[in-house]
Amino acid sequence: QQSAQRVLHILESVADLLQRNAEKLGDIDAVAGDGDHGIGMERGVLGAVEKAREVATRGAGAGSLLCRAADAWADKAGGTSGALWGVALTALGTAIGDQQSPNAQRVATGVREAKEGIMHFGKAKVGDKTMVDVLVPFSDSLNAAVAEGASLTDAWLAAAQVADKAAQDTAQLVPKMGRARPLAEKSVGTPDAGAISLAMIVNTVGDLLK
Ligand code: ADP
Ligand code: MG
Ligand code: MG
Repeated sequence: QQSAQRVLHILESVADLLQRNAEKLGDIDAVAGDGDHGIGMERGVLGAVEKAREVATRGAGAGSLLCRAADAWADKAGGTSGALWGVALTALGTAIGDQQSPNAQRVATGVREAKEGIMHFGKAKVGDKTMVDVLVPFSDSLNAAVAEGASLTDAWLAAAQVADKAAQDTAQLVPKMGRARPLAEKSVGTPDAGAISLAMIVNTVGDLLK
Protein backbone atom coordinates (compact mmCIF):
# COMPACT_ATOMS: atom_id res chain seq x y z
CA GLN A 1 0.00 0.00 0.00
CA GLN A 2 1.39 3.33 -1.11
CA SER A 3 0.45 5.46 1.90
CA ALA A 4 1.68 2.73 4.27
CA GLN A 5 5.06 2.84 2.48
CA ARG A 6 5.07 6.59 2.96
CA VAL A 7 4.43 6.26 6.71
CA LEU A 8 7.18 3.62 6.93
CA HIS A 9 9.60 5.96 5.16
CA ILE A 10 8.70 8.78 7.59
CA LEU A 11 9.33 6.48 10.57
CA GLU A 12 12.71 5.47 9.12
CA SER A 13 13.68 9.12 8.73
CA VAL A 14 12.58 9.88 12.30
CA ALA A 15 14.69 6.92 13.49
CA ASP A 16 17.70 8.37 11.69
CA LEU A 17 17.01 11.78 13.27
CA LEU A 18 16.71 10.36 16.78
CA GLN A 19 19.85 8.24 16.43
CA ARG A 20 21.80 11.32 15.39
CA ASN A 21 20.40 13.34 18.32
CA ALA A 22 20.22 10.71 21.08
CA GLU A 23 23.23 12.04 22.94
CA LYS A 24 22.05 15.64 22.74
CA LEU A 25 18.55 14.71 24.00
CA GLY A 26 20.09 12.70 26.85
CA ASP A 27 22.22 15.67 27.85
CA ILE A 28 19.17 17.97 27.94
CA ASP A 29 17.22 15.43 30.04
CA ALA A 30 20.21 15.08 32.39
CA VAL A 31 20.11 18.76 33.40
CA ALA A 32 17.02 18.20 35.58
CA GLY A 33 15.90 14.64 34.75
CA ASP A 34 17.51 11.20 34.57
CA GLY A 35 19.28 11.60 31.24
CA ASP A 36 17.58 8.72 29.42
CA HIS A 37 15.39 10.62 26.95
CA GLY A 38 17.73 10.14 23.99
CA ILE A 39 18.21 6.41 24.52
CA GLY A 40 14.50 5.92 25.25
CA MET A 41 13.38 7.70 22.07
CA GLU A 42 15.96 5.81 20.03
CA ARG A 43 14.82 2.44 21.37
CA GLY A 44 11.18 3.36 20.84
CA VAL A 45 11.51 4.49 17.25
CA LEU A 46 13.70 1.52 16.29
CA GLY A 47 11.06 -0.82 17.73
CA ALA A 48 8.41 1.08 15.78
CA VAL A 49 10.36 0.82 12.50
CA GLU A 50 10.98 -2.89 12.96
CA LYS A 51 7.28 -3.54 13.53
CA ALA A 52 6.23 -1.22 10.68
CA ARG A 53 8.50 -3.05 8.21
CA GLU A 54 7.05 -6.36 9.29
CA VAL A 55 3.41 -5.33 8.89
CA ALA A 56 4.09 -3.36 5.66
CA THR A 57 5.31 -6.53 3.95
CA ARG A 58 1.98 -8.11 4.87
CA GLY A 59 0.12 -5.28 3.11
CA ALA A 60 -1.19 -3.28 6.08
CA GLY A 61 -2.77 0.13 5.47
CA ALA A 62 -1.19 3.33 6.81
CA GLY A 63 -3.39 3.65 9.89
CA SER A 64 -3.02 0.02 10.96
CA LEU A 65 0.70 0.22 10.40
CA LEU A 66 0.97 3.29 12.61
CA CYS A 67 -1.10 1.68 15.38
CA ARG A 68 1.10 -1.43 15.42
CA ALA A 69 4.24 0.73 15.35
CA ALA A 70 2.83 2.77 18.27
CA ASP A 71 2.53 -0.32 20.47
CA ALA A 72 6.07 -1.38 19.61
CA TRP A 73 7.35 2.13 20.39
CA ALA A 74 5.79 2.13 23.86
CA ASP A 75 7.04 -1.43 24.56
CA LYS A 76 10.65 -0.83 23.58
CA ALA A 77 11.09 2.73 24.85
CA GLY A 78 9.93 2.35 28.43
CA GLY A 79 9.73 5.58 30.41
CA THR A 80 7.05 8.23 30.48
CA SER A 81 7.69 9.58 27.02
CA GLY A 82 7.55 6.10 25.46
CA ALA A 83 4.08 5.47 26.85
CA LEU A 84 2.94 8.93 25.71
CA TRP A 85 4.32 8.47 22.19
CA GLY A 86 2.47 5.16 22.05
CA VAL A 87 -0.78 6.91 22.96
CA ALA A 88 -0.15 9.69 20.42
CA LEU A 89 0.71 7.47 17.45
CA THR A 90 -2.26 5.19 18.17
CA ALA A 91 -4.59 8.22 18.09
CA LEU A 92 -2.99 9.45 14.85
CA GLY A 93 -3.11 6.01 13.20
CA THR A 94 -6.75 5.55 14.16
CA ALA A 95 -7.73 8.94 12.71
CA ILE A 96 -5.77 8.43 9.48
CA GLY A 97 -7.25 5.00 8.83
CA ASP A 98 -6.36 2.69 5.96
CA GLN A 99 -7.66 4.47 2.87
CA GLN A 100 -5.19 5.13 0.05
CA SER A 101 -4.46 8.77 0.66
CA PRO A 102 -5.26 10.41 4.01
CA ASN A 103 -6.40 14.00 3.54
CA ALA A 104 -5.27 17.07 5.47
CA GLN A 105 -8.38 17.11 7.65
CA ARG A 106 -7.84 13.53 8.85
CA VAL A 107 -4.22 14.22 9.69
CA ALA A 108 -5.08 17.45 11.55
CA THR A 109 -7.83 15.65 13.47
CA GLY A 110 -5.37 12.85 14.29
CA VAL A 111 -2.84 15.33 15.67
CA ARG A 112 -5.56 16.94 17.80
CA GLU A 113 -6.62 13.53 19.12
CA ALA A 114 -2.98 12.66 19.82
CA LYS A 115 -2.69 15.86 21.86
CA GLU A 116 -5.90 15.08 23.76
CA GLY A 117 -4.71 11.51 24.42
CA ILE A 118 -1.36 12.68 25.81
CA MET A 119 -3.02 15.28 28.04
CA HIS A 120 -5.58 12.77 29.29
CA PHE A 121 -3.01 10.06 29.94
CA GLY A 122 -0.17 12.22 31.31
CA LYS A 123 -2.23 14.92 33.06
CA ALA A 124 0.25 17.66 32.15
CA LYS A 125 -1.11 21.12 31.34
CA VAL A 126 0.34 23.91 29.25
CA GLY A 127 3.14 25.55 31.25
CA ASP A 128 4.22 22.40 33.13
CA LYS A 129 7.37 22.18 30.95
CA THR A 130 6.66 19.02 28.97
CA MET A 131 6.08 18.02 25.36
CA VAL A 132 2.51 19.34 25.85
CA ASP A 133 3.94 22.87 25.59
CA VAL A 134 4.86 22.08 21.98
CA LEU A 135 2.01 19.76 21.09
CA VAL A 136 -0.76 22.24 21.95
CA PRO A 137 0.49 25.13 19.78
CA PHE A 138 1.52 22.70 17.02
CA SER A 139 -1.94 21.10 16.93
CA ASP A 140 -3.75 24.45 17.16
CA SER A 141 -1.68 25.95 14.33
CA LEU A 142 -2.09 22.87 12.10
CA ASN A 143 -5.84 22.66 12.68
CA ALA A 144 -6.38 26.39 12.11
CA ALA A 145 -4.47 26.36 8.81
CA VAL A 146 -6.26 23.24 7.54
CA ALA A 147 -9.64 24.74 8.53
CA GLU A 148 -8.74 27.78 6.39
CA GLY A 149 -8.10 25.49 3.43
CA ALA A 150 -4.29 25.25 3.46
CA SER A 151 -2.69 22.14 1.96
CA LEU A 152 -1.35 19.55 4.41
CA THR A 153 2.22 20.44 3.45
CA ASP A 154 1.78 24.20 3.94
CA ALA A 155 -0.17 23.77 7.18
CA TRP A 156 2.34 21.28 8.59
CA LEU A 157 5.39 23.40 7.70
CA ALA A 158 3.87 26.49 9.33
CA ALA A 159 2.94 24.49 12.45
CA ALA A 160 6.45 22.98 12.60
CA GLN A 161 7.89 26.49 12.86
CA VAL A 162 5.47 27.24 15.69
CA ALA A 163 6.64 24.00 17.37
CA ASP A 164 10.31 25.02 17.12
CA LYS A 165 9.67 28.35 18.80
CA ALA A 166 7.48 26.73 21.49
CA ALA A 167 10.21 24.18 22.26
CA GLN A 168 12.83 26.91 22.71
CA ASP A 169 10.38 28.84 24.92
CA THR A 170 10.17 25.94 27.41
CA ALA A 171 13.65 26.98 28.61
CA GLN A 172 12.16 29.69 30.81
CA LEU A 173 9.59 27.37 32.44
CA VAL A 174 9.81 25.58 35.80
CA PRO A 175 8.87 21.87 35.47
CA LYS A 176 5.82 20.54 37.32
CA MET A 177 5.54 16.98 35.99
CA GLY A 178 7.67 13.89 35.73
CA ARG A 179 11.15 13.29 37.04
CA ALA A 180 12.31 16.85 36.62
CA ARG A 181 10.28 17.99 39.63
CA PRO A 182 12.91 17.49 42.38
CA LEU A 183 15.42 19.47 40.35
CA ALA A 184 12.91 22.03 39.13
CA GLU A 185 14.89 25.24 39.54
CA LYS A 186 18.00 23.72 37.99
CA SER A 187 16.20 23.34 34.69
CA VAL A 188 15.43 27.03 34.18
CA GLY A 189 17.47 28.16 31.18
CA THR A 190 17.41 24.69 29.59
CA PRO A 191 14.47 23.62 27.38
CA ASP A 192 12.46 20.46 28.09
CA ALA A 193 13.92 17.34 26.44
CA GLY A 194 10.56 15.94 25.31
CA ALA A 195 9.54 19.32 23.89
CA ILE A 196 12.77 19.51 21.88
CA SER A 197 12.48 15.96 20.51
CA LEU A 198 8.85 16.56 19.47
CA ALA A 199 9.79 19.78 17.65
CA MET A 200 12.65 17.98 15.87
CA ILE A 201 10.33 15.19 14.79
CA VAL A 202 7.58 17.41 13.36
CA ASN A 203 10.23 19.37 11.42
CA THR A 204 11.68 16.17 9.94
CA VAL A 205 8.18 15.03 8.96
CA GLY A 206 7.59 18.47 7.40
CA ASP A 207 10.71 18.14 5.24
CA LEU A 208 9.38 14.82 3.91
CA LEU A 209 5.99 16.34 3.05
CA LYS A 210 7.60 19.07 0.86
P1 ADP B 1 11.28 9.56 31.86
O1 ADP B 1 10.77 10.89 32.36
O2 ADP B 1 10.41 8.41 32.28
O3 ADP B 1 12.73 9.38 32.13
P2 ADP B 1 11.90 10.40 29.16
O4 ADP B 1 13.16 10.95 29.72
O5 ADP B 1 12.01 9.59 27.94
O6 ADP B 1 11.08 9.59 30.27
O7 ADP B 1 10.91 11.58 28.78
C1 ADP B 1 10.89 12.77 29.51
C2 ADP B 1 9.97 13.73 28.76
O8 ADP B 1 8.65 13.24 28.78
C3 ADP B 1 9.91 15.08 29.42
O9 ADP B 1 10.94 15.91 28.93
C4 ADP B 1 8.53 15.58 29.04
O10 ADP B 1 8.53 16.29 27.82
C5 ADP B 1 7.74 14.31 28.84
N1 ADP B 1 6.84 14.07 29.97
C6 ADP B 1 7.13 13.55 31.16
N2 ADP B 1 6.01 13.44 31.93
C7 ADP B 1 4.99 13.90 31.16
C8 ADP B 1 3.58 14.04 31.35
N3 ADP B 1 2.98 13.66 32.48
N4 ADP B 1 2.84 14.56 30.34
C9 ADP B 1 3.43 14.93 29.18
N5 ADP B 1 4.75 14.81 28.95
C10 ADP B 1 5.52 14.31 29.91
MG1 MG C 1 14.21 10.74 31.39
MG1 MG D 1 13.59 7.57 32.84
